Amino acid sequence: MSSGGPLNAATRLWALSGLSVAVLPMEGLSPLIVQIDQILAQYQPQTNPVGGDGSGIVTGQFINPASGYPITSGFGPRRSPCAGCSSFHPAIDLGTPMNTPIQAVDGGTVIGATWWDGYGLTVVVAHGNGMKTRYSHLNSINVVVGQPVSQGQEIGRSGQTGYGTGPHLDFGVYKYPGSDWRTPKAAAIDPRSVIKF
Ligand SMILES: [Zn+2]
Repeated sequence: MSSGGPLNAATRLWALSGLSVAVLPMEGLSPLIVQIDQILAQYQPQTNPVGGDGSGIVTGQFINPASGYPITSGFGPRRSPCAGCSSFHPAIDLGTPMNTPIQAVDGGTVIGATWWDGYGLTVVVAHGNGMKTRYSHLNSINVVVGQPVSQGQEIGRSGQTGYGTGPHLDFGVYKYPGSDWRTPKAAAIDPRSVIKF
């Protein structure tokens, strides 16, 4: 393995988890990455429900989660942008600078507010009728699971957590039954089919 970034990142994470750096596997990065993901899956970020509860009222008309920023990557097949990134993009990327306020596109209930592997800090909002929206690579999260939000309510600030090439918002729209916050790729809808960007 090469020295540098990955090991430094792992060392920081091990310090975060309270485990000894001595248990780091030194051969091969794959088991290391798996273990980092397992640790991050348990890592609960500091959340700050600054906006308080919203109305939860679903209008059925989605607004732009970060209006005024360009789409930097569209929905569908693409060349993998980085190691560990998927080649099917079940979302769109908006070129938001760090700490851009991100709005819920409609009212609903927060069902996910946590770190999700390569997606980094992620919020998922359920809007009824099986519709869910996902906001990823956030720098901070303003809501907690179970919280009702209003359309346009700030759910967090954009960032570059998880896998990625720089600050942006990865925004996905999904339709599937149930309340699982882990949005399945197969249920992804092109956000441009429901929002005018
Ligand atoms: Zn993306």
